[in-house]
Amino acid sequence: MVDFAASERLSEKPLRSLEDLLAKISTFYPAADLKLVEKAYLFSERAHEGQIRRSGEAYIAHPLSVAGILADLRLDLSTIASGLLHDTVEDTQATVEDIRQEFGETIAAIVDGVTKISKIQFKTSTERQGENIRKMIVAMGKDVRVVLVKLADRLHNMRTLHHMPYEKQARIAQETLEIYCPLASRLGISSIKIELEDLSFRYLHPDRFYEISQKAERREKDQFHYIEDVRRIITEEVEKSGIREVEIQGRSKHMWSIYKKMTGRNIDFEQVYDILAFRVLVGTVPQCYEILGLVHNLWKPIPGRFKDFIAMPKANHYQSLHTTVIGPGAERIEIQIRTKDMHLIAERGIAAHWRYKEGGKPADSTANKFEWLKDLVNLHQQVGNSDEFLDTVKTDLFEAEIYVFTPKGEVREFPDGATPIDFAYAVHTQLGNSIVGARVNGKMVPLKYQLANGDTVEIMTSKTQVPSKDWLKFCVTNKAKTRIRAFIKEEQRKRSLALGKELVEREFRRYGASSLKYFKGEIFEKFKVHYGIHDDDEVYVRVGYGKLEPRMVLERIAADLIAGPGKEEKSETTPMQTLFKSAAQKSRKSGSLVAVSGMDDILVHYARCCNPIPGDTIVGFITRGRGITIHRTDCPKAFEFDQLRRVDVEWTTGEADSLERTVSIKVVSQDIPGLLKAMTDVFAALGVNIHNAQIRTTRDLKAICTFDVNIKNTSQLNQVMLELQKIRGVIGVERVTHT
Ligand code: MN
Repeated sequence: MVDFAASERLSEKPLRSLEDLLAKISTFYPAADLKLVEKAYLFSERAHEGQIRRSGEAYIAHPLSVAGILADLRLDLSTIASGLLHDTVEDTQATVEDIRQEFGETIAAIVDGVTKISKIQFKTSTERQGENIRKMIVAMGKDVRVVLVKLADRLHNMRTLHHMPYEKQARIAQETLEIYCPLASRLGISSIKIELEDLSFRYLHPDRFYEISQKAERREKDQFHYIEDVRRIITEEVEKSGIREVEIQGRSKHMWSIYKKMTGRNIDFEQVYDILAFRVLVGTVPQCYEILGLVHNLWKPIPGRFKDFIAMPKANHYQSLHTTVIGPGAERIEIQIRTKDMHLIAERGIAAHWRYKEGGKPADSTANKFEWLKDLVNLHQQVGNSDEFLDTVKTDLFEAEIYVFTPKGEVREFPDGATPIDFAYAVHTQLGNSIVGARVNGKMVPLKYQLANGDTVEIMTSKTQVPSKDWLKFCVTNKAKTRIRAFIKEEQRKRSLALGKELVEREFRRYGASSLKYFKGEIFEKFKVHYGIHDDDEVYVRVGYGKLEPRMVLERIAADLIAGPGKEEKSETTPMQTLFKSAAQKSRKSGSLVAVSGMDDILVHYARCCNPIPGDTIVGFITRGRGITIHRTDCPKAFEFDQLRRVDVEWTTGEADSLERTVSIKVVSQDIPGLLKAMTDVFAALGVNIHNAQIRTTRDLKAICTFDVNIKNTSQLNQVMLELQKIRGVIGVERVTHT
């Protein structure tokens, strides 16, 4: 697809005075009440008095130009006034409170947001883009106009970048390219995006920029007659059809996109310009399709190149018909057809939604239709973890898009690589949580199926389904990932709560009491404060997670139970307590060995049946009275447990090497002298300790040796088993699983 530069770039003519600004606004909004703008100008001028820009002008020239850009975007008067005031809080004595008193809440909030964005230290590397966007969203609060003012501010600063010291120019240009351009693009403000890109390009790679712009200019001259011919042919056809007020635009230059194509495909300038492009602007949607018909009638369309963004608008609301045809002289030409309203959205994007209307109110509140933005704001509130946020924001903001259909024919948009899981969560959280499969274009597909453009997706659900951690590996949207993580977290919290309650209750029952009686009052409150616990359930949850021991809870909040004469069960520890203790010890010893998703310091216990060691794939079960028991996933017992008690666990790397676990290895061999020594030699050579061995012989003259040895991980185990297998006379070696 060929990029167009904005047909009318935002006016670059600098404004000289308040009168210039008012005149500009009046041409768009003849009936506007300009008192607010005047007042903002005077306030700003006074506040910035005595400040000089690097260009040597009075500072007010900058806010005035920013307001001018916002006026060019046809924004409402509040935004224009905010543009005039945008630097007052940061650079002058004025405070947000002053602005609020003088201009009200809306303008104060916008200026405050812009000030906050100015303070962000952006990191200019692609990996951190998500973080930058996140910071910007936090600063922005709920009003997108903050970002619009910031973009206008940046645009004016870029236009005047030549006044900056040389070494700063490249850094600012880089920041613009990496942060503000993607943002402008995602907000659909192509006029700002394109200008910012070309300005950045000019400062980042001046040689390439001037080379390409010269060549582009020459090329345009060469093609002048061809372009005029095509334009004339289309115009004649359109006139014959009787459609009036049609505007046909030739291609404009966008240096950065040419440069990107050259470097991206490693081609020369000459090869980039093989497709000529035209844009036809009409009055109504039916006329768009009519013109499309005319064009396809004139010249043969190239299959697969037709795109209907009118029926399926992009997320940033871009609408247009795109087609590529074989034009005169067998040249390929691309033609974009859209209404003038659509064109306005294409050029001004989200800004078009705050267009001024009589009475000074925003044109509509459809900015809410920018779902992704709403999602991002919500997402930020839900996800505490910034890395998680970054990952997801990055995909959502910068990945390619595909369009798929619901069974009812609604269009949904997804990043490239999206799966039915993403689709299900996009429709409804409950649909996502219970997805078991999908039918795509009538055929069953696995959950990891990658959706393709135009797929019709039907989700199949089951009431008993619950989201799995594995899903995170093949879903790509932030919505799906966040919901899955939230579900898993919540489930595990619930289980820990139940488990913790049970553990605490048992401890209290030993003294014939109930914890409920002690979960109130001064001592309990103090206890909570001491541990930084806010609600009562959290005590149980922490016990369930193994962060608090039930005995300790009892000692702290019910000391009278223990102290009370004759009340204490003199007797030895209960079996449950023994188990708990041993589990606790193990946990302490192996604290860093197993990680349970969403929990720290978990109380773990290794199942004796399958005796997992680092390297085995494992699964955890919340076990009454024992914290979490770790099984191998292939352990037959693991299937017998209540799957609702299942938790996802994995070995942690790093410290795993420092720990050893006991594994039983059974070696079946012929009963020949010297074999036992050969086996123990293997263990010795590999530095493996034997702490128990049993040997018996069978009637058919075989020897069965069972060694209990200390093993670090599966690779060590495999090595041991392999070496044993090599001994002459050994028939079979196996790891013993007690089932
Ligand atoms: Mn500024």
